[in-house]
Amino acid sequence: MHTPQNVRRGPNSFASELLQISTGCPYGKCHFCNLYEHEAYGVVPMQHIVEDLDEIAATVRHPKSILLLGGNPAGLPNSKLIPILKLIREKLPTVQGVSGFMSTMDVKRKSDDNLREMAEMGITSVVLGAESGCDATLKRMEKGHVAEDIVRQYPRLERAGIKYSVFYLCGMAGKGKCVESGLESAKVFSQINPETIVLTTLTPFEGTKLRGEVEDGSFELAPESEVMLEAAAFLENLQCETTISGSHDSNLFKIDGILPRDRERLVATLKWRAENVNDRALAGLRMRMAGM
Ligand code: SF4
Repeated sequence: MHTPQNVRRGPNSFASELLQISTGCPYGKCHFCNLYEHEAYGVVPMQHIVEDLDEIAATVRHPKSILLLGGNPAGLPNSKLIPILKLIREKLPTVQGVSGFMSTMDVKRKSDDNLREMAEMGITSVVLGAESGCDATLKRMEKGHVAEDIVRQYPRLERAGIKYSVFYLCGMAGKGKCVESGLESAKVFSQINPETIVLTTLTPFEGTKLRGEVEDGSFELAPESEVMLEAAAFLENLQCETTISGSHDSNLFKIDGILPRDRERLVATLKWRAENVNDRALAGLRMRMAGM
């Protein structure tokens, strides 16, 4: 296999075979992201993809699913993505589902026909970095989409036959604004139908614009208790039926469950953690977290 770079697995993809089809990120402006800082955006040469598929065919018995890797691989223009999906069909006929990251802007750029073609050619699910439903928060981090895009674009995936999961980034609004941002996000996310919402926590990694902003004082990180209260406010007011995956390495809380069934337990756990966490002892911790 050509060594995959930046292996980021979304939810429900731990049994999938990995296939890198792109490098870098075509957007690259999100203040909190350093994933592709030294990697130019591009499509992996077709010869490498063919060789990797041949290797999977030779070494894995009846592969069932493929996770596409690279910067927003499922967002590649259909002229580039569809030939790759055709190759997967040809070389790995037992594969029943292909998934990968896709940005909200990629969904917006694609027509309904494009999305349907992706589904027909094997894309069964995508993972989206929605991050927040609060416009001020999204704009502050230059995320590139607004709340209305979440509400309008994600249902288009569903109508095309593509399931989706989303990331929600706690703490992204900054000190003093997180709970309000969580409440606003709950209103927006209540209008969509994600399979899973993955909760993560804002961390100013080396190489991000955010790190410089924390260092020069133009962005103030929220204390951990506020981050937990934001997650609690978000889940308490979220009206969709979905799985909550909150055990990401960046979180100082670990919660997993299904909404609405587990709402009370999840919210109570977060509030208890918020009351008992020692913010003073944890001050500076996020700046010391090197990467994950
Ligand atoms: S968060 Fe996603 S869209 Fe934003 S810069 Fe990073 S890889 Fe690109």
